[in-house]
Amino acid sequence: MRHDSGDCCPRTGSGRTAGRRTLRAVWSQRAVVDYGLARRATLTSLLGSGPITREDACDAHPYLLRAARHHGEASTSECPVCRDEQLRLVHYVYGDELGAYEGRVKAPAELAEMAHEHGEFRVYVVEVCLGCAWNHLVQSFVLGTGAGSDVGRPVRRGAGRRERTTGPAPR
Ligand SMILES: [Zn+2]
Repeated sequence: MRHDSGDCCPRTGSGRTAGRRTLRAVWSQRAVVDYGLARRATLTSLLGSGPITREDACDAHPYLLRAARHHGEASTSECPVCRDEQLRLVHYVYGDELGAYEGRVKAPAELAEMAHEHGEFRVYVVEVCLGCAWNHLVQSFVLGTGAGSDVGRPVRRGAGRRERTTGPAPR
């Protein structure tokens, strides 16, 4: 039994390649909320003389660090605090139709699949530094086919969603 013949498709068992082009059609981010201002305010306070300490801001939960390491998307930005590591982006999904998957961490490839399978759900993007444990909510957006819409409304900052990853950060 040979299991490594170089001739066959390298993506053994994935079977996802066929749908990739159609997935692109639903991979449109809607109702985007940007948390850049809150992020900048936190950093200004942290790196300046504000009340936010490094303990406050660099407090990523071990679960979040693990998610960032194993399911996070590498980013090209370096950590604004320690400037020692490239940030990783962790995607959390929320939506009534997700059922047991609500609040889970999803890799970008999984998000693309979900966008094809569900009407609407919201994705929260958290940047994480594996070096110093800096973490902050950076963006959220809605994905999905658009069928049955009630998540499409923009969510206001700090609207009481379960943002267990960021704790007190965005304000
Ligand atoms: Zn860092």
